[in-house]
Amino acid sequence: EDSHVTRPKLKLEDIFIAVKTTGRFHKTRLALLLETWISRTRAHTFIFTDTEDEDFRSQGHNMVVTGCQSDHSQQALSCKMSAEYDGFMASDKRWFCHVDDDNYVNPEALLSLLSAFPQDSDIYVGKPSLDKPITAHELLEGNATREVRFWFATGGAGFCLSRRLAEKMAPWASGSRFEQTSAKIRLPDDCTVGFIVEKRLSISMVHCPLFHSHLENLLLISHRSIPHQVTLSYGMFENKMNSIEVKGSFSKEEDPSRFKTVHCILYPFTSWCP
Ligand code: UDP
Ligand code: MN
Repeated sequence: EDSHVTRPKLKLEDIFIAVKTTGRFHKTRLALLLETWISRTRAHTFIFTDTEDEDFRSQGHNMVVTGCQSDHSQQALSCKMSAEYDGFMASDKRWFCHVDDDNYVNPEALLSLLSAFPQDSDIYVGKPSLDKPITAHELLEGNATREVRFWFATGGAGFCLSRRLAEKMAPWASGSRFEQTSAKIRLPDDCTVGFIVEKRLSISMVHCPLFHSHLENLLLISHRSIPHQVTLSYGMFENKMNSIEVKGSFSKEEDPSRFKTVHCILYPFTSWCP
């Protein structure tokens, strides 16, 4: 296929990056992302939240205030994922990527990952959260259920969908349908994406080790591989703070997530980097 002739090379701005957050995390989590990686991707990064924030909006960030509830329920989180999907579909972008507000995205690593795929194919790429497919009980007509097994990418590590695949998902994902599909399998938003892609469309997820959530041991990521990782995370894991181990400009007290330290390694000429 002559994709190199018919399609220009993928650019960072062709990637729609959706960040899921909530009002009470604007100052404690989102602000750190805006100072670091989102400062490099602002024009094509969209922040999906439940609370208006005039400060962030006046700084030029794309804030999308959904009408979703501001809790951690399956319904509230599926409502936000649905808004992210619809926002992407209404855009002119070529890829959709979702991340949580405790993820660092390395823009250049993300661009090289996505550039390596044939640009007109059906791609769902991310990190599986389990070492085997999840089993769900799909609700059928009446009271019947059916066991289904499929892989899904952990939302907390980030994942991406090509536009061609996202378009095929519309019958189960657009408008109110995403929440209906989520209710059918009674599983969270990220599982619902896997269910639609693998069970409704029979397309296999691409397993990629370059996405990271705080549900894995982040100490295992080597210092020299950090520039190649697509996403990083931080947070609680088995009741302890889990973050990557990286030496640099900031102490653990100044930079517990290590995101500032990583950002200054990737972009040393940033004004606030020492
Ligand atoms: N989140 C949300 N509403 C809530 C709680 C969390 O939208 O009431 C978002 C949060 O901003 C984050 C994601 O859901 O992007 C996952 O939340 P968190 O990291 O707190 O929990 P985890 O599932 O990772 O343990
Ligand atoms: Mn988290």
